[in-house]
Amino acid sequence: MDLHPPTPLPEGYLEFFQSLESWQNEQTIRLRNSFIHSKEDLSVRLQKNKKPLLSQINPNIDGDLLQNLLDGLLTFLETARPSVSEHVKKLKSNFKWLDFDNLVKAFLKPKESELVDTAKQLEIPEEFFIFVLDHALRPVLRLIAESYQEELANDFHWDIPAICPICGAKSHFSRLRQEDGQRIMFCDRCFSEWKTRYLFCVHCGCDHPNDISYLSVEGNDAYRVYVCKQCHGYLKTYDERTSGRQVDMYIANIGTIYLDMLAQEQGYTNHDGDYLL
Ligand SMILES: [Zn+2]
Ligand SMILES: [Zn+2]
Repeated sequence: MDLHPPTPLPEGYLEFFQSLESWQNEQTIRLRNSFIHSKEDLSVRLQKNKKPLLSQINPNIDGDLLQNLLDGLLTFLETARPSVSEHVKKLKSNFKWLDFDNLVKAFLKPKESELVDTAKQLEIPEEFFIFVLDHALRPVLRLIAESYQEELANDFHWDIPAICPICGAKSHFSRLRQEDGQRIMFCDRCFSEWKTRYLFCVHCGCDHPNDISYLSVEGNDAYRVYVCKQCHGYLKTYDERTSGRQVDMYIANIGTIYLDMLAQEQGYTNHDGDYLL
């Protein structure tokens, strides 16, 4: 990635997420032949309920599969993040009494309070517990999302553009497509992409050209943060037309934390926490 952030990231930060993504890619490839998702009629589901697909259906992710993925992720973390090894040990030693089927359901609903209660019982930080569940499930969520890729790329309309229509994660990043400047939202949890308008605030729907503008850092104009004067919301964006090429959106989102800082310093918010689905 050609990113030279003006505010340096903590040492090893980007590398950690790069190896985490590689681990997840390996799991996705490993599971591709064994995990089967019965495809739903996406448009019908979303039009009827206006809620992300995975909060409406039971995707049949077996508790054993989560246990297996979580075990692998924790082993990865033992080497990649030795600072969390105490939490890793504690969580692994409690595997025998955890209800993994229920954890999958609670994560997807989402019923965060249940996850927080379990973390308290395990005496591990709730952010750590939710982080590992989230990242352990991502390889399966990405396989499920692959089934809907084509549909999302075509004539698809979704009323809540800042939320992933498949897995329900909040999106913080979009790209402007090289061939036509079409804005495409990106979900870093399941890798879904869906279209939205260019001059449009994904938070409040404002589309007045005078109210939407962008900030960027000199010499790095392909990476921008679009801001809205109406709701003070912001959205990070990568413009493929400026650089003439695509980037790994997952890594670019992490590598552009300096844009979050820039926007927040100027009083803008990504509205995390305002979305209750
Ligand atoms: Zn998603
Ligand atoms: Zn807005």
